[in-house]
Amino acid sequence: QAHIGVIGAGQLGQMLALSGISLGLSFTFLDPSAQAPAGRLGRHIQAEYDDELALEQLAVECDAITLEFENVPVSAVASIARHNQIHPGERPLSIAQDRVHEKRFFESLGIPVAKYHAIDSFEDLKSAVADLGYPCILKTRRLGYDGKGQVVVRHSDDLEPAWASIRGNPSILEQMIPFTREVSIISVRSTRGECAFYPVSENQHRSGILHRTEIHMDDPAQERAEEYARHVLDGLDYVGVLAIEFFEHQGRLVANEMAPRVHNSGHWSQNGAVTSQFENHLRAILGWPLGSTACTGHSIMINLVGIIPPRAPILALPGVHLHDYGKEPRTGRKLGHINIVADTKESCRKYATLIEQMIG
Ligand code: ATP
Ligand code: MG
Ligand code: MG
Repeated sequence: QAHIGVIGAGQLGQMLALSGISLGLSFTFLDPSAQAPAGRLGRHIQAEYDDELALEQLAVECDAITLEFENVPVSAVASIARHNQIHPGERPLSIAQDRVHEKRFFESLGIPVAKYHAIDSFEDLKSAVADLGYPCILKTRRLGYDGKGQVVVRHSDDLEPAWASIRGNPSILEQMIPFTREVSIISVRSTRGECAFYPVSENQHRSGILHRTEIHMDDPAQERAEEYARHVLDGLDYVGVLAIEFFEHQGRLVANEMAPRVHNSGHWSQNGAVTSQFENHLRAILGWPLGSTACTGHSIMINLVGIIPPRAPILALPGVHLHDYGKEPRTGRKLGHINIVADTKESCRKYATLIEQMIG
């Protein structure tokens, strides 16, 4: 029976453990927060991510180590790698932690990205805007998530406030893509090089936070998304689940960012796929055969942000599953999600609309 170490103990760690426990695995989590959701599902080493002693402890007591949070210091992953296997490793992590490195990496594989410039000063910002034109979007290179650390620049009057809001952090200015859809692909590669790809999901955001994901069987973007994901997986000799977000624009897929971990737009797979992204991530890092990524029905996932609604009316709907992370409610915080699986697109959307009305 393998023991898995996970850096981070948030909801992604919790969902990894929930699927791993039924495979006979056990878990140790390293996370600084006493309230971390996954802490209750295994041993919790409560320490900072760069605590050398804690990292060594995690490395020696586990059979395989992974992470559920992409902003773990790369040095922490290097420390673990001196003692044990860790997937994903330093390279995918360091690329995904910096939006400029990420864009250069996509470009090196021939994957289209929005035009961009690296920004280190207000002068850089002015000359980048002169090249890209309006509107564009200024983002910190590091540590942004859920739309935090980014600001849209529509007019020359926006430049100074935008620069002030970034607080002098190294940034990137990107052309705004007037996309028709946002899609993502969840892909997985095992230590044995076996790859699998989930059906592409269409994602809608509200205030920069993922709101709703819908899976279309036979999505026209599937083939291209898989091709790009395969380049990324093979290019990094990657192990585990990796998500890539794209903008669909003029019939092309433009890569926005990637996440070297299980991803919110793959949560539907817990109830709507033969094998969930969480189980496949564990299978991948253990070198076990990957499970089928096929859909079992039409799926929509809705995030619960800031509030968990009353359970009974939601659970009364057929094919509807609630996932509550057990976190303290706070405005703008992801507290859970609802997966809807139905035989037809129409009934799936009908239940999704009802749920959206319930959560307001
Ligand atoms: P996540 O929570 O997905 O990690 P994030 O904070 O890393 O989000 P992005 O995914 O880069 O940020 O951007 C958030 C959202 O803002 C995108 O999903 C998209 O809707 C919009 N956006 C970002 N960059 C662009 C762009 N260049 N053109 C058009 N829209 C964009
Ligand atoms: Mg991101
Ligand atoms: Mg994103």
